[in-house]
Amino acid sequence: MPFTLHGIAAAHGVATGPCLLYDPTPPVITQSHILPDMVQEEKARLQRALEASMQEIIQLRDLVYERVGKEEAAIFEAHLLLLEDEALLDTAHIRIEEGLMNAEWAMSGAADEFAQILAELSDSYFQARAADIHDISTRVISHLQGRPLAQLRHLTDPVIIAARDLLPSDTAGLNPTFVLGLVTEQGGPTSHTAILARQMGIPAIVGATNLFNTLYDAQVSDTHVVQIALDGNDGSIVVDPDSETLAQYAHALRLYQQQRERLQSLRTLPAVTPDGLHVELAANIGRSRDAAPAVEAGANGVGLFRTEFLFLDRSNPPDEEEQFTAYCTVLNAFTGKTVIVRTLDIGGDKSIPYLQIPQESNPFLGLRGIRLCLAEPYQYLFRTQIRALLRAAEHSKASLWLMFPMIDDLRELRRAKAFLAETEAQLLHEAVLQHAVLSQVRVGIMVETPAAALLTDILAKEADFFSIGTNDLAQYTLASDRMNATLADLHKPFHPAVMRSIAHIITTARQHGRWVGMCGEMAGDPRASVFLLGLGINELSMEVSALNEVKQVIRHTTMAQAKGIVQRVLESDTAEHIEEILSWFVQNMQID
Ligand code: PEP
Ligand code: MG
Repeated sequence: MPFTLHGIAAAHGVATGPCLLYDPTPPVITQSHILPDMVQEEKARLQRALEASMQEIIQLRDLVYERVGKEEAAIFEAHLLLLEDEALLDTAHIRIEEGLMNAEWAMSGAADEFAQILAELSDSYFQARAADIHDISTRVISHLQGRPLAQLRHLTDPVIIAARDLLPSDTAGLNPTFVLGLVTEQGGPTSHTAILARQMGIPAIVGATNLFNTLYDAQVSDTHVVQIALDGNDGSIVVDPDSETLAQYAHALRLYQQQRERLQSLRTLPAVTPDGLHVELAANIGRSRDAAPAVEAGANGVGLFRTEFLFLDRSNPPDEEEQFTAYCTVLNAFTGKTVIVRTLDIGGDKSIPYLQIPQESNPFLGLRGIRLCLAEPYQYLFRTQIRALLRAAEHSKASLWLMFPMIDDLRELRRAKAFLAETEAQLLHEAVLQHAVLSQVRVGIMVETPAAALLTDILAKEADFFSIGTNDLAQYTLASDRMNATLADLHKPFHPAVMRSIAHIITTARQHGRWVGMCGEMAGDPRASVFLLGLGINELSMEVSALNEVKQVIRHTTMAQAKGIVQRVLESDTAEHIEEILSWFVQNMQID
């Protein structure tokens, strides 16, 4: 029987397909005793799980070799060798035969014993193998329990991924060819997982209460894989859709595609109002490979390069050379245009496990963004990045602008700028740079904390430009976690407090002769475009899929209309009223 669940629409698009329940929590292993006459069967069960695990690892190794590279595939080679290790298997067998333990408990105990021995060796290579032993034992146990581990990075068939939550590091490694859609129980529409889904063009829904257990039960009570239909435009998820529902979704998908095709005609046209005001429309990107598609989609530059995405989905940080290449790729793709590169914004929901940053109880209020970059022992990360960026600037035919995230006040901005100057001096001293480059690089900040918003006039004295980060500005202004689906009702970017803060930032920046753009998710919402236009914003930067829709609004709104809307919005007392005013305007716009 089909039934419907609801979540928050996070990335446009419609999808139907088989559901892959992704549960990264390790299997729960319970100890039970077996009878002596069950020993042979228990050993045979372990053998079957070992063979299934080997098959799986061989497949993974080959896929990773083909798609990623030899070095990464070597991890799976090491796993195979460990699985073939007779000592490990013998220990597990002894536990079954002599201890009369169930295979899961025997395998887990044997793995713990081996991992302990390796961890105590002084050689770091062997210490690292202890983690591999746990990895393979988890795989074998998951086969013993009949729930093989879901692999997100190495999918071979198209699926809709359903999970309690997904980390940006899970999402960053996805291959969009095999991911039809994403549905999660947790997370908000401005979580970085949702942002990545939009960037990859994968329809997504977040905050779907009780999703995981409901799908798990459906999967268990059914003999076949559960099918899902999801609509990323309205947040509905139909489980086990019947043919009528499937037909409705296919129709919705066609309409969605037709609308996108119609908007394509705007791709090469400028974003200019009927009375001649020009607004730059730029792209938010996270990888160097996003640059060419952004040009293709009609972006006039990059308004936000989230460089921390280069650090996700891997086991060590990219070195100076690798970063230099990535930055050059993006700059080269935008010859003659502006590329705003944001320096590392690690922290919050973008944790990078291999950096071993101590856990914090409030990561969004903790060592994040510029705070982490300027703190020891993490300055080496910042140094490497700035070196790579300044080197890229020397060769660039695009205009490189550097932007610091999470700046609170002038003291922080000065420290970051001093760090830049010091790094440039070092590079010149080493003759790595032939000429000083900072004089050609504009240095600005994200305005995403209430502190920076209130201090716009002061920061304008030393920041060349501003870009408003509405995702964090809304979270910090409203004290509502952008990741928390239960607060979705509170976390409203159209809240009057956020809208007034935005108005203050843009007006003050313009009064001080500073360029001001926006790169938070609001910049890609066509309803917000009219308001931002009326305030005199210089640039809007967004996921490329939103470019045409925003351009359409700009091309059909006069400045007089936009200023009228600004006044009405700033007089409104609720988010709902503001949303109503903006939606009404966009829906009733005269489109030729
Ligand atoms: C923002 O906060 O609006 C922003 C663009 O930065 P991020 O989403 O990466 O935190
Ligand atoms: Mg931010």
